[in-house]
Amino acid sequence: MRNVNSTAASTRPVADPDAIRPREVSGLRGHPVVGALSPSRASDFLTCPLLYRFRAIDRLPERPGRAAFRGTLVHEVLDRLYDLPAPTRDEEMAGAMVPQALADLLAAEPDAAFALIEDAQWPDDSAPEVTDEVRDLMIREAQALLKTYFTMEDPTSIDPVSREQLVEVSIGEDLLLRGYVDRMDSAGGKLRVVDYKTGRSPTELWEQSAMFQLRFYALVVHRATGAVPDRLQLLYLGNGEVLTYQPDPEDLERFERKLAALWKAIKRAAETQDWRPRASKKCRWCSHQALCPEFGGTPPPLPDQPSVATSLTVEG
Ligand code: SF4
Repeated sequence: MRNVNSTAASTRPVADPDAIRPREVSGLRGHPVVGALSPSRASDFLTCPLLYRFRAIDRLPERPGRAAFRGTLVHEVLDRLYDLPAPTRDEEMAGAMVPQALADLLAAEPDAAFALIEDAQWPDDSAPEVTDEVRDLMIREAQALLKTYFTMEDPTSIDPVSREQLVEVSIGEDLLLRGYVDRMDSAGGKLRVVDYKTGRSPTELWEQSAMFQLRFYALVVHRATGAVPDRLQLLYLGNGEVLTYQPDPEDLERFERKLAALWKAIKRAAETQDWRPRASKKCRWCSHQALCPEFGGTPPPLPDQPSVATSLTVEG
């Protein structure tokens, strides 16, 4: 287990299970909230303002990716696993749940087939047929990740407070922070936030993004519940590593100021329509190179924007 920040919290509110249940709050809550940020979109802007524009303002579609789909499948199985009585949550049961979860996901979102059939032309072709061979391969990959999960946690001993919970809080006058928290646990008055990752633990290039996400969740849970989570963990099922963050109130206050500054920068970019590209090693994974000036492309005209407020009321 790797500790990325081991600063101990000084004084924390007592975390009673009812108090720590995240509340979904209205984005307006008496404030003229005009924009919403998720960890992904905030991280996009920090990586490249043009990438943020493509995803949050233009809302350009992106081809469903195989790794992302596999992640959704594993999340779905883990969520269903925790619906079962604790003593029955074993590896065999989790593995047996994969085929039905896969069938349900494909039925709910036919375009997900593009994630499995990588040589189908997207978006030109209609959703391709998923053969038994392709389906079986995805099932085996998901089962391998679940096998690793059982080396990291014992779900028979965990009683989650919440799962797949949308948590929203407003900060300042015009910003809504929003995130899905995979799981929250409470044991002995301690609050733990857990997020599953189906890739490997991050290299140096991505570690800052992981830390950003952990702080983001810590802040959202803190503001939504009043309690500072005792521990946040990213479980990397790709290689069995755990990234742990123990927040303290001062660190979260600093992070909140950082988010407020980031939001100001996004609003400035929207007002001046200056979404300049910032090329980096991460361009390799960008779906929008064909429209990016760094790669000889031209961005499409900005969509009609009756106001900055409307254009920024988006979420990814
Ligand atoms: S290719 Fe790179 S510079 Fe261009 S939009 Fe994507 S991330 Fe930004």
